[in-house]
Amino acid sequence: MAIRLIRELGDPVLTKKAKLVKEMTPRLAQLITDMKETMYEANGVGLAAPQVGVLKRIVVIDISEEQNEPHILVNPEIIEQDGEQCGMEGCLSVPGKQGQVTRPQHVICRALNENMEEIELEGEDLLARAICHELDHLDGVVYVEKVEGELQDVEALEEEPEEDGE
Ligand code: ZN
Repeated sequence: MAIRLIRELGDPVLTKKAKLVKEMTPRLAQLITDMKETMYEANGVGLAAPQVGVLKRIVVIDISEEQNEPHILVNPEIIEQDGEQCGMEGCLSVPGKQGQVTRPQHVICRALNENMEEIELEGEDLLARAICHELDHLDGVVYVEKVEGELQDVEALEEEPEEDGE
């Protein structure tokens, strides 16, 4: 396993559309392992392959406190969404910042897992937000484009309970 370098806002790779995964290869399996490791190391709740410089449609998400419930989504698509939630969002590619973004309250995502088997992941609240945020990365969209109002410094809110990045 290896920690990969997380690309930050301004890196052109974050604005490009990622390509569909056609088959699982040892190289991509290693990428998924490294993405999990990198996400946990950075205390994030999600990471998309373009954030480590790879333009493939792969996302890892883990919103659990213990960081032991990873969801691996290959070629994910949102097939249903409803409701609305408005809350603060952060991103490992935009360190030290957060901003308010409106997302669906509930989503159903269809994807392949690391064995290229079809799966569905249903999420509400933070999980729905994380799914939407990470899938945006696959289309070259960083959440700062969707922030309502100003991006804020996380340091300025130090008194508040700490929010993990996505
Ligand atoms: Zn992000």
